[in-house]
Amino acid sequence: MTITTKIPHHQFEPDHLDDLARQLFKPSGVDGVYGRTGEYESVIEALAALITRHRPAEAEIFRFAPVMSRASLEKQGYLQSFPNLVGAVCCLEGSEREIATSANKNDNGGSWTEDLVPSDLVLAPAACYPIYPIAAERGVVPDQGYVFDVAADCFRHEPSRHVDRFQTFRMREYVRIGTPEQIQAFRDSWVPRAEGIADLIGLPYTVDVANDPFFGRVGTMMASQQRADALKFELLVPVRSKESPTACMSFNYHKEHFGEVWSLHNARGEVLHTGCVAFGMDRLAVALFVIHGARVAEWPATVREALKL
Ligand code: 5GP
Ligand code: ZN
Repeated sequence: MTITTKIPHHQFEPDHLDDLARQLFKPSGVDGVYGRTGEYESVIEALAALITRHRPAEAEIFRFAPVMSRASLEKQGYLQSFPNLVGAVCCLEGSEREIATSANKNDNGGSWTEDLVPSDLVLAPAACYPIYPIAAERGVVPDQGYVFDVAADCFRHEPSRHVDRFQTFRMREYVRIGTPEQIQAFRDSWVPRAEGIADLIGLPYTVDVANDPFFGRVGTMMASQQRADALKFELLVPVRSKESPTACMSFNYHKEHFGEVWSLHNARGEVLHTGCVAFGMDRLAVALFVIHGARVAEWPATVREALKL
C-alpha cells in the first residue's frame, strides 16, 4: 500500500520563542498539535496539583473525555456562537466490504474521507459543557447550589504556529451553579484567588475585561454586549509580548444561558445562573517556561517550591 498523504514540515512562527518551543514540543505534522516532553508534562502535573490545593472544599470532581455529545453542543447553541471552532467526529460506516472500499480509496487516487459519516460525538471545546446536563438530571438544585471541579482535553479549530495557541489543550475549571448572587460572589472571589496562584508561580499578569470570539456579524454585537456587561474577565500573561498578552485563565458569568438550556432551577422554580473559572493548563505551562526559562532546575526556588518541583 502506498501512503499518499503528505506530512508538511512543521515550523513554529519564527520569533523569540522558537527555540523554547522546539525544546518543549515535538511536531506532529499539524500546526497547534504537538508531542510534549517529560519536563513539560511534569509542569502540567505540578500546576494541576497546585490548582487542586486551591479547590473549594465543597467541589464535586468530574473528569471528562476529549469528546462530548453532539446533541448537547447543538442544544446549547454552540453552532450559532462558534461554528468555526467546532471539530466533529466522523467515522466509516457500513458493511465490512463498504468500509474496505472506503479505506482503500487513497490507493486509487481518491480519498477515504469522502465516505466519512458524522457520529454522535464532537470534540469538547470547553471542559464545563458536559457538567450542566449532569447537574440538571438530578432535578431541583439545592439552595446552596453546586460547585464542580472539571477537566478535559479541549479542541478548537484554530490552527496556529504560535506557541500560545494550540488546537488541542488541557482545560481545568471550577464551575458554580446557583443564584445570580452566588455566581457573582464565586467569580468575585476567584479573581483575587487566581491572582494569588499567579503570584505564587512568579507570573506577571494583568486582569482585564474580555469577550469570547463570537462568530460573524451578530457575533461582533454579542462580543461587545458581553464586554459592556463585564461577563468575562481574563488573567493575561505577557507570553509573546507585553502588547498582546495571552489569556491563561478566564472568569466567566454565563447568566441564565445554561440554566435555561438545561432547565436548572431551584425549589422556588427560579432558573439558575452559572459561572466558571477556567485554567488553560497548557498556556500556564508555556507561560512558566517563557518567564522562567527552558530548564525547570534553573527556575527561582520560590516558584519550584510553590509547584513542589
Ligand atoms: P475560554 O473558554 O475563556 O476561551 O478558554 C479558557 C482558557 O483555555 C483560556 O483562558 C486559555 O488559557 C485556554 N485556551 C483557550 N484557547 C486556547 C488555545 O488556543 N491554546 C491554548 N494552549 N489554550 C487555550
Ligand atoms: Zn466553563
